[in-house]
Amino acid sequence: MLREQLEKIEFESLAPYAAKSADSRGRKYPEARHPFRTEFQRDRDRIVHSTAFRRLQYKTQVFVNHEGDHYRTRLTHTIEVAIVSRSIARALRLNEDLTEALALAHDLGHTPFGHAGEEALNEILRDHGGFEHNRQCLRVVDLIERRYPDFPGLNLTYELREGILKHHSDSDFPDPPSDLRTDYGPSLESQIVNMADEIAYNCHDVDDGLSSGIIDEKQLEKLAVWEQGVARLGGKAGDNQGVRRHSLIRFLIDYLVTDLVNNSCDIITAERPADADDIRKNHKLLIMFSGIIAEENRELKKFLNNNLYRNARLLGMAENAKKMLINLFNSYLENPGNLPPHISLRLQDNATILVVADYIAGMTDRFAAAEYEKLTKK
Ligand code: MG
Repeated sequence: MLREQLEKIEFESLAPYAAKSADSRGRKYPEARHPFRTEFQRDRDRIVHSTAFRRLQYKTQVFVNHEGDHYRTRLTHTIEVAIVSRSIARALRLNEDLTEALALAHDLGHTPFGHAGEEALNEILRDHGGFEHNRQCLRVVDLIERRYPDFPGLNLTYELREGILKHHSDSDFPDPPSDLRTDYGPSLESQIVNMADEIAYNCHDVDDGLSSGIIDEKQLEKLAVWEQGVARLGGKAGDNQGVRRHSLIRFLIDYLVTDLVNNSCDIITAERPADADDIRKNHKLLIMFSGIIAEENRELKKFLNNNLYRNARLLGMAENAKKMLINLFNSYLENPGNLPPHISLRLQDNATILVVADYIAGMTDRFAAAEYEKLTKK
């Protein structure tokens, strides 16, 4: 099928307020359109082929990589966000390709060692505007990836770049690139990824938390949402704990996604947005849970915060990782000669502190740990 036919199908089958690839505001460096892929499909492919995407495999989500092979990494988290996002987009007749591309890109700006790494870089860059992973994600796709002879970055469409910036509904974003409109709110496709991210990590963190033994089912029984899953499952899993856990997690994902789709559909029907611009211009946040489920979801987040993320074992790992990255940073700053040649090249046009921060932010957990050993323990 040719691109023009795919674009026609979008106009015929998607909702009037869905983003249409033929209507894209285009790319910063103009390129001819592709014969059989839409603009957003092409964005998605560029993201998957990027170096930053492959490195997600060795970046921490919650559990540091060496803790075990079956915990979520940034990569498997990203893939879960992408499939949840696509299901929601399809159900609401929104642009599935744009949503998928945004989901695959959404964590490209994450540092090694999860939020501990982000905190370390935020401290390091305190006098330089701080560090924020969505902004870093935009730096990765706009500047840091070098794959084309004619331009830096991946030259993604405006819609992708704007969606990355507004991945969080809070549009208060320091120092945005001058070509992106910051007075506009997020597209519905971007709002979906924001919610799918939350659904994916809440559910898989319960799963990984249970499998690690840091939390147990007894604790979860206090949560209304968990109790519903238990009642639905009854005795069906017998005493097979693995099947029981997977069944309850499956229920949890479906319960949250179904409410999000149904409630957002009701809100959109009542609001009747004219087109995609109507949503962005008027800051309409239409992708949300119903009142009761929003409260149950808040309860779940609070539970994870108190019982998993603040667990002594995880906090200890985070503290070590933070110290390691700060020491590694100082070591490069004192001896920039230790930077590899392709990074040193950037020192000609950029402040050393920013070049080193970009370099460290892009590292995987294991590469950062190996560099730390090599440079600070001679
Ligand atoms: Mg995420």
